[in-house]
Amino acid sequence: MSRAVPSAIMAVAEKAKALKAQGRDIISFSIGVPNFLPGEHVYAAAHQALDRDSGNYGSNRGPDGLLDAFLAHFKRNGFDGFERKNLCVGVGAKHVIFNVMYAILEEGDELILPAPYWTSHIDIARILGADIKVAYCGSEQDYKLTAAQLESLISPRTKLLVLNNPGNPTGMVYTEAEIRALGDVLSKHPHVWILSDDIYNQMIFDGLGWHHLLKTHPHLRDRVILLDSLSKTYGMPGWRVGVAAAPVELAQALVTLNSNHITNLPEVVCAAAIAALTGPQDIPQKMAGEFMAKRDEVMATFARIQGLSCPRPQGAFYAFPDVSFAFGKRHGAASITDDVDFCNVLLDAKGVACVPGSAFGEPKALRISYTCKAQELTEGLKRFEEFCSELH
Ligand code: PMP
Repeated sequence: MSRAVPSAIMAVAEKAKALKAQGRDIISFSIGVPNFLPGEHVYAAAHQALDRDSGNYGSNRGPDGLLDAFLAHFKRNGFDGFERKNLCVGVGAKHVIFNVMYAILEEGDELILPAPYWTSHIDIARILGADIKVAYCGSEQDYKLTAAQLESLISPRTKLLVLNNPGNPTGMVYTEAEIRALGDVLSKHPHVWILSDDIYNQMIFDGLGWHHLLKTHPHLRDRVILLDSLSKTYGMPGWRVGVAAAPVELAQALVTLNSNHITNLPEVVCAAAIAALTGPQDIPQKMAGEFMAKRDEVMATFARIQGLSCPRPQGAFYAFPDVSFAFGKRHGAASITDDVDFCNVLLDAKGVACVPGSAFGEPKALRISYTCKAQELTEGLKRFEEFCSELH
């Protein structure tokens, strides 16, 4: 437990919630929730499942109906050739990541993690005692891992690369050429597993498309773990449904782990998940459109703030501006020396909650999650801009 830390994102979200409960006017840009609800058909399926409760335990891998719905989902996205035996579900993608890392990593094994990283990617690897090689990808390279960086970090002890596309906290999306270049490197190192965390795959803007190692380099199939989740795509973060599509042996390892802790996902949850995956698919599309418009509003505000720079996010629902121009300045009597100060002073002065970039391995930045209601977003951005203009 000495290696385990609580989620930094949850900590900021909790603080914002507590201030709100005290009656403060708080706008939270902190937690990564999609902020929409699934369609009626999802709730109807859940209600029906309650009426038909089997009274039994369920499958450790996931019920056939849910596995088939995921297989169809993958097929829709151009991933053919998976079978039920390639899949294993979990209590959200976070749980699947834990299982995958637990299955692959021995204490001391090397894991390559591009920074900025999502907090749980590093936190889980730390808990497992992995030797984490962070590949620092600054804003000047649009926060994306390059093939040269990857090549230089792979050693005979490298077990796993985590690749997150679109990325949290940056909203960056890899182009086909960039994925291809990474795939070329990985092809030369057959001992490296790849955890491809693609849970924002339906939220890609500007017509960019979701490019994937399994498409540019199909032969990587025997060591790529494709990770997906219902949380962001279908507005179902609290329902806790994630999945891995992986080589059979790895999927079986995940099933064995499930059999020793969660046993199964609840029947009601599985029924709702099947309805979401097989029902109308216009919701994710519509939401991606809304998020893109919000991204534009965020970037328009940032463009007016002198000194602030932000690579243009092209997916997910985060922006990750470099706010280091503010370091060494003051707001009122409060001094700002780093990203944590920036976020604390901003929260105290303007009631706007953001997550410091250091939580993601980039202490020059902060993360804004911009899925809140349109009015709140506009007001929060106005306060953010005001705050920056008042720095001295
Ligand atoms: N991967 C990434 C990149 C995420 O941002 C998140 C959630 N914030 C997860 C995985 C976990 O998602 P889930 O809700 O399915 O556990």
